[in-house]
Amino acid sequence: SIYCKFVFQSFLPNMQVTTNWLQQFTHHTPLIIAGPCSAETEEQVLKIAHELKETKVSIYRAGIWKPRTRPGGFEGVGAIGLKWLNKVQEQTNLLVATEVANATHVKLALEHNIDVLWIGARTAVNPFAVQEIADALAGTDKIVLLKNPVNPDLSLWMGGLERLQNAGIKKLGVIHRGFSTYEKTNYRNHPQWQIPLDFKSKFPNIPVINDPSHITGRRDRIQEVAQQALECQFDGLMIESHCNPNDAWSDAAQQVTPTRLLEIIETLNVTAAYSAIPDFNKQLAFLRTKIDDVDASLIDAIGNRMQIASEIGELKKTQNVSIVQPSRWETILENMIAKGNEKGLSEHFIKNFFEAIHQESIEKQKKS
Ligand code: PEP
Ligand code: MN
Repeated sequence: SIYCKFVFQSFLPNMQVTTNWLQQFTHHTPLIIAGPCSAETEEQVLKIAHELKETKVSIYRAGIWKPRTRPGGFEGVGAIGLKWLNKVQEQTNLLVATEVANATHVKLALEHNIDVLWIGARTAVNPFAVQEIADALAGTDKIVLLKNPVNPDLSLWMGGLERLQNAGIKKLGVIHRGFSTYEKTNYRNHPQWQIPLDFKSKFPNIPVINDPSHITGRRDRIQEVAQQALECQFDGLMIESHCNPNDAWSDAAQQVTPTRLLEIIETLNVTAAYSAIPDFNKQLAFLRTKIDDVDASLIDAIGNRMQIASEIGELKKTQNVSIVQPSRWETILENMIAKGNEKGLSEHFIKNFFEAIHQESIEKQKKS
């Protein structure tokens, strides 16, 4: 009942999570987290850190416990890597971050004063593991970041965040690193932008960081995905960087050199969510009204088209003629692709658009 819900909620710890932790980085917007996928050697960790210090990179990442899909891969250097990260703290202005996957990792990372702890995508799928980590972190003032679970499940991701909130962790954020699909796509992990955007609207105060490295799996597409994230008003980026990417012990194909990373950061266009300029807003409102008018006539036109489809359905029924006629459909599609082309519309778009219309048309004919 509503009453129970009220009583229950009033016993939960203060849910008001501040975003203040992000404000310490506002001299560099967006927040940039960068560093190798894995810490490999002390020299490698320090070399990359020195190339990234005094740039727009604020947090240095390096995995020391690596979740591998199959055994036999490089599983990380382990706790010795924490000492190397401490040297990064001593020698540079960078905060340091690493992945934790169980209570032991948390304990060691906290003992070594690691500034930022993140929970990986394979751990985020498991509520028991997230709860164990949340309990081990209870009350910490370190920054804790939760990656999205590998499967596209918004609730599971939200639930993980709630476990961390309930443990009293205040400096929270999430990382969007894309989602597994069984089919091969253009991405290593499909971004499915709607999911992080839904997450943002459910938790408007929780910073969202995009990880274009694990989304693309290839260094030549990192810039493109990072730019998309900025256009979605994400708060930061986590990008893997290595001095010799091709020789990296994990995720070689997606890592970029520090030089390339800095180039990417420089060329990103940081877009604003809105503007306070009255003229701009007037013009925007005017153009939006025009769009709304066009959308309304689109719906009218599609409604009329479906009306005709129903009439065709009735007519076909009188002679027992089949509803789906592939050659007729192919002709329509060909004509529309040609017409769309004249208007600068892509073949891909016209195909999707008319396939949806055709499908609805078939439903209407069936019902007629
Ligand atoms: C990583 O950041 O190196 C990593 C293992 O990422 P994910 O958990 O997103 O796969
Ligand atoms: Mn990686």
